[in-house]
Amino acid sequence: MATFTVRFLGCKVSHADAQALRERLTADGHDERPGSGDVAIVNTCCVTNEAVAKSRQAAARAARDHRRVYVTGCGANLGADAFASLPDNVSIIRAAPERTPELVARDVGAIGCVQADARLDRVRAFVKVQDGCSFSCNFCVIPLVRGRSRSRSAGAVLAEIAKRVRQGHREVVLTGINLGCFRDREAGYTLATLVRAAGGVTGLERLRLSSIEINHVNDELVAALRETPAVSRHLHVPLQSGDDEILRAMGRRYSTETYLRRLSPLADFNLTTDVIVGFPGEDEAAFERTLELVHRAGITKVHVFPYSPRPGTATAAADTVPPAVKKARSARLRAASHEACLARWREKIGRDDVVLVDRPGRGYGDDYSPWVVDDDAPLGELVPVRGAAVTEEGILAA
Ligand code: SF4
Repeated sequence: MATFTVRFLGCKVSHADAQALRERLTADGHDERPGSGDVAIVNTCCVTNEAVAKSRQAAARAARDHRRVYVTGCGANLGADAFASLPDNVSIIRAAPERTPELVARDVGAIGCVQADARLDRVRAFVKVQDGCSFSCNFCVIPLVRGRSRSRSAGAVLAEIAKRVRQGHREVVLTGINLGCFRDREAGYTLATLVRAAGGVTGLERLRLSSIEINHVNDELVAALRETPAVSRHLHVPLQSGDDEILRAMGRRYSTETYLRRLSPLADFNLTTDVIVGFPGEDEAAFERTLELVHRAGITKVHVFPYSPRPGTATAAADTVPPAVKKARSARLRAASHEACLARWREKIGRDDVVLVDRPGRGYGDDYSPWVVDDDAPLGELVPVRGAAVTEEGILAA
């Protein structure tokens, strides 16, 4: 038997892939031991230069106190030299996420199929329904490392949700690289019908989508989100820019007008987004249009990514906005986002909500707004709350 640790960097898909690795090694009879062990797996991210640097640091650290380290995930598949010259006990696994657990497990070796159950280490379970992306946005390296879009079967997804519920998870997040591309043609499922079916899994109390492109926010999906009681009133819809010319240069498949129109039936949802700041050609006026669009769409939390060129992409050679300008614009957008969050949180004073406690003294309400609750509120449980005040960290529960 080997002892192992698994760490992931990056998005919820990376988290789901790390979980698949963890479950495979546990099923083979190995023992997860956080902190140290014989084997470390670092599931990496390559979405920005910074993500690659952090992934490399994590692999180097793991190599110091583990006999063997496996570097997996998007960073490993990038094909650049990001993980070159690491110590000899580090192996880079370049493979599709579906094949990675098998390759790592084969190398670690099984001690017999004991079929143990690896409970997720988090309160909410991320269930992958789809992988890859066929959209080819000009700045994005993800299609290069994850390949074209493909879906799991609806049956496998629903079975995994039922399993997570049995393991004690109150919330499930449907996760994918381009979630709206999910299709199970044989069984006749779209994402909307999957949402309805997932919401009907006995015992599931809260269901969210990780992130969805605006192109997929159609009437069918909006109706499913509205009519499925377990669905949280939260949607994360990447914007990337509020300027039509920049959106075209990015190779995005929508205009600002489309973005606003498609979100309008969800005006009561807590809407969050991603924005790339300092994309080549973004001038002050274009950035101002982004600030304005974020405001007009009623978006609260903005995940701000200062642009960094990624190898192998259409814009790999372009980086025209000076770092200091990116930094200043990023700070302005984050400040605007914080103000929008505070405004939404203030609306909750005197109102009731239900919070899923995911850390001591912290949790998220039905619309994924953060709450500050008692330190002894039970971890992993849903607790009723009433808004008393607003703090910098979230809504203070009475
Ligand atoms: S939709 Fe665009 S940004 Fe998102 S993963 Fe696909 S190519 Fe990348």
